[in-house]
Amino acid sequence: MKKIFLTNSLSRNKEEFIPLEADNVRMYICGPTVYDRPHLGNARAAVVYDLLYRVLKTAFPKVTYVRNITDVDDKIIAAAKDNNESITTLTRRMEDCYHQDMSALNCLKPDFEPRATEHIADMIAMIETLIASNHAYVAEGHVLFSVASFPEYGLLSNRSRDEMIAGARVEVAPFKKDPADFVLWKPSTPEDSASGFTSPWGQGRPGWHIECSAMCKSHFGTHFDIHGGGADLMFPHHENEIAQSYCANGQDSFAHFWIHNGFLTVDGEKMSKSLGNFKTVHDLLSEGIEPAVIRYFYLTTHYRKPLDFNPKALEDAKKSLAKFRLSVANYAGEPEKDDQLYEMLNDDLNTPLALSRIHELASQAIKGDSGAAARIIWACGLMGLDLTEVTKTIPQEVIALADARIQARNTQDWALADELRKKISALGYNLKDTKDGYEIS
Ligand SMILES: [Zn+2]
Repeated sequence: MKKIFLTNSLSRNKEEFIPLEADNVRMYICGPTVYDRPHLGNARAAVVYDLLYRVLKTAFPKVTYVRNITDVDDKIIAAAKDNNESITTLTRRMEDCYHQDMSALNCLKPDFEPRATEHIADMIAMIETLIASNHAYVAEGHVLFSVASFPEYGLLSNRSRDEMIAGARVEVAPFKKDPADFVLWKPSTPEDSASGFTSPWGQGRPGWHIECSAMCKSHFGTHFDIHGGGADLMFPHHENEIAQSYCANGQDSFAHFWIHNGFLTVDGEKMSKSLGNFKTVHDLLSEGIEPAVIRYFYLTTHYRKPLDFNPKALEDAKKSLAKFRLSVANYAGEPEKDDQLYEMLNDDLNTPLALSRIHELASQAIKGDSGAAARIIWACGLMGLDLTEVTKTIPQEVIALADARIQARNTQDWALADELRKKISALGYNLKDTKDGYEIS
């Protein structure tokens, strides 16, 4: 069997990945909080763990991939209020958007996608265990984890408790025994009590960290192989997950490998709504950018390193993909495994090296080497890069909306015209007015 090496954030070393049970690799990835469309950082994580899933599946008979959906959160409550829609309408709508965008990027569906709201009883049970063993306490309707009760706190980031707290925005509240203590259960406010859940501590909702600990346990029990997520989740989210799970399930339980993907910046800056550089996958697709080009762009940088999104990077991705497509255009045979490339991916998912290997093969294939073309098809299949150019067929529904918009413009009903444009864009299409009518992409 092929050896796979991955960087384990726990040891900070590249280690050979040996699953606990050879016939079922178990991987849990922190999924989206569904209050908004997925942005480019969310999608980077989805593509990284999709690739890991694909590579693991080539080496092990079964891989169980769980990615949760956080559908209870303060941001969700606030967004539902802003949009004047119910929490469930918002979360289900955003869940659909997430699925549509990730499937456009050719990410395989995880085997399970548990929703936090469907595991409230598991969370309550875990919190009760923590209270009973003095790792948690109740204060003013809250349940808090007592960080002082877990001396190993900080295992993952390898920093002292005080360093971690100084570097993060830790909520100071009068009911906390220690500023580092974090919320396991939070009471509902009188206005949002309808969206709360009944618990032994009153109406409320779980803290974000306990959600993942409980869902991991529910799917995998106390020990499993891989836990992953963005580097920004390492502290406090993952540190807190470890503290809860170790204290509730026993020492050294929980994930054996921790994997973190790097940050994404836009034009060299942190992506944020206030800087005006916030981009969603849907924005790019609406601009007519092909999803395979976006996926290629994500693979150009090693998953652990920071990645910068800028027009040139996207243009380069487009050119490279076009070269790959050209190189296999005349090949109609079967794919063929490329051991050299497989080795590169097995070495901590070295995608930049793997892509340069495909470039090398593409140059040979363009000169007529059909063996090289066969290897490119195999390699791109493994990496989820779609080599068939996508020509979008515009659905009848979108054409009808565009026609109705022309009508509305002719009668100078600008409000209706605007609303129809928004509907078209919500369906993932971009409308451009031309001299003779319109163009949809
Ligand atoms: Zn999580």
